[in-house]
Amino acid sequence: MTRSFYEREKGLLIVISGPSGAGKGTICKELLKRQKNLEISVSATTRDPRNGEIEGKNYCFINKESFLDMIGNNEFLEYAKVYDNYYGTPKKRVLEKMEQGIDVILEIDIQGASQVRANYPEGIYIFIVPPSLKELKKRITDRGTENQDQLDKRMNCAYEEIRNATKYSYIVINDTVSVAANQVSAIITAEKCRSERL
Ligand code: 5GP
Repeated sequence: MTRSFYEREKGLLIVISGPSGAGKGTICKELLKRQKNLEISVSATTRDPRNGEIEGKNYCFINKESFLDMIGNNEFLEYAKVYDNYYGTPKKRVLEKMEQGIDVILEIDIQGASQVRANYPEGIYIFIVPPSLKELKKRITDRGTENQDQLDKRMNCAYEEIRNATKYSYIVINDTVSVAANQVSAIITAEKCRSERL
């Protein structure tokens, strides 16, 4: 049966990756102002909360044992170990929201994105890059949440992540947040209009 293009069945799955400090989180918040029917998935992590981070809003902060239980119970859409901590996307809420026609953003690393891509090739895969590696280092340093060892780890991972950028359908340079958010929003809007999605 041909579905009318006036009735969109499911929400889209939008995957946003990029090195730590590229500004993914800020862009995602900006997207909420630009797109209707959009939700950002809240990941579970074993990392400690940073100052100002709110349980259930930024992340669900859980211990390693609980995380491993969730893996065992197949509760994750994807998960990965990033900088010595586990991060994962709880499956249930994401699938429920998409079922209700709500678009869901996953802000996840490249390992998680490739797991999602294997199951959801129809997702929208967007990679955010900083204007330069020098600027990236400055942003992470200015954030002041990482010590030297953590900064080095994040910079090393950034090189590896950026090498993988071409696996994504879209690459957006985040020089100015509002411009980058407009670009990501335009990508989402264009993807919603693709004939094969309607
Ligand atoms: P941060 O510790 O700076 O909040 O996040 C570190 C990295 O973990 C970022 O690249 C972020 O995108 C990634 N990340 C956050 N949540 C998830 C998740 O649920 N799954 C995966 N695979 N990566 C995540």
